[in-house]
Amino acid sequence: MADKTLPFNEDFIRTIIKDHPTPFYLYDERAIRTNARKLSAAFQWCDGFREYFAVKATPNPHLLKIVKEEGFGADCSSLPELVLSEKAGITGEEIMFTSNDTPAKDFRTARELGAIINLDDKTHLEYLEKHAGLPELLCFRYNPGPLREGNVIIGKPEEAKYGLTRPQLFEAYTQAKKKGVKRFGLHTMVASNELNPEFFVETARMLFELAVEFNKELGVRLEFVNLGGGIGIPYRPNQQPINYEDIGGPIHKLYDEIIRPAGLHPLKIYLENGRCITGPYGYLITEAIHKKSIYKKYVGVDACMSNLMRPGMYGAYHHITVLGKENAPLDTTVDVVGSLCENNDKFAIDRQLPQVAIGDILVIHDAGAHGHSMGFQYNAKLRCAELLWREDGSIKTIRRAETMEDYFRTLDFGTL
Ligand SMILES: *Cc1c(COP(=O)(O)O)cnc(C)c1O
Repeated sequence: MADKTLPFNEDFIRTIIKDHPTPFYLYDERAIRTNARKLSAAFQWCDGFREYFAVKATPNPHLLKIVKEEGFGADCSSLPELVLSEKAGITGEEIMFTSNDTPAKDFRTARELGAIINLDDKTHLEYLEKHAGLPELLCFRYNPGPLREGNVIIGKPEEAKYGLTRPQLFEAYTQAKKKGVKRFGLHTMVASNELNPEFFVETARMLFELAVEFNKELGVRLEFVNLGGGIGIPYRPNQQPINYEDIGGPIHKLYDEIIRPAGLHPLKIYLENGRCITGPYGYLITEAIHKKSIYKKYVGVDACMSNLMRPGMYGAYHHITVLGKENAPLDTTVDVVGSLCENNDKFAIDRQLPQVAIGDILVIHDAGAHGHSMGFQYNAKLRCAELLWREDGSIKTIRRAETMEDYFRTLDFGTL
């Protein structure tokens, strides 16, 4: 059983709380860097390998700067994400622009920044040409449809709105080549929160085989294949983390079997994970402020679904530790809830926890990706602060909590 221990104790968090009221997010810089190095090491054999961190997971320039320092690029899907990456010092082809249903102005900004543009449809070739001009390097997103089973979370590829079909890909590269595009990449994303390394190896095989076909049939030689993101993390205590070597190693073998004999070496491999890069290293820290006992027992905390919507939205499991009671028996069954007027505002349902007292600090694990960034303002709830626990042990506010003034800023009270 993988454990769900914490790299800090109650005293450490209580000290932070003196200056930073709950709820807040806490990110562990050291752990993010250590993990990033492990991923890079698993692909060290591949010249030009790059992980493009999915900005939507934690769109914070301080976290982007950390992953940039670890050699990562940024995967963006909107204009503000592009701007954010640039502000964090990630530029040019260190940015992958994987968007869909893309507005013209987003394409224009991506072109201005020199980002790698990954098109989601064959009609986007003309759209891009018309609104932003065609770049020298272009990528297309493949949707394998029934040729590939999706995993549980991302669903079946043929139900997904993304990408081009297989025949469309051949047309798109042919057309792009005719229009003068010189350099090519190929992308797909068919997994989300997948803990089976084999899934990513199969994705590599699929793209490697296409690379060979494109070369033979179209005279298009790919410069890179992007396997997308989707490496999972062990949200539950009984799950094991993926060992990146179990992805990098077998892909290396496939590369030697498929790419080298076809004369296609060097072919760069790109990934665009978000979740596995920061997910396990971000925590939502919240205080128990109420308890009630009706048909069920409830613990009410000062965070709510607008701080972390994965449990409410997907029924996702997030482990919870009650600080100071790490070794206490799990002898009560409670729902841990927030204050939204929505009955799905629950961080946990029927969870076995130690006896929670009002004033206890609860740590919600694995909130470091798709956590704060999915926040919203329903019920006029404000987004909380993000804190970085730096390698030197200090705490830095990397996003302050929203205030009521922030919430009112877009309203016009002047003409009431
Ligand atoms: C969301 C997303 C990712 C990142 O997914 P993770 O599950 O966080 O690894 C990568 N690429 C695209 C196109 C995405 O939409």
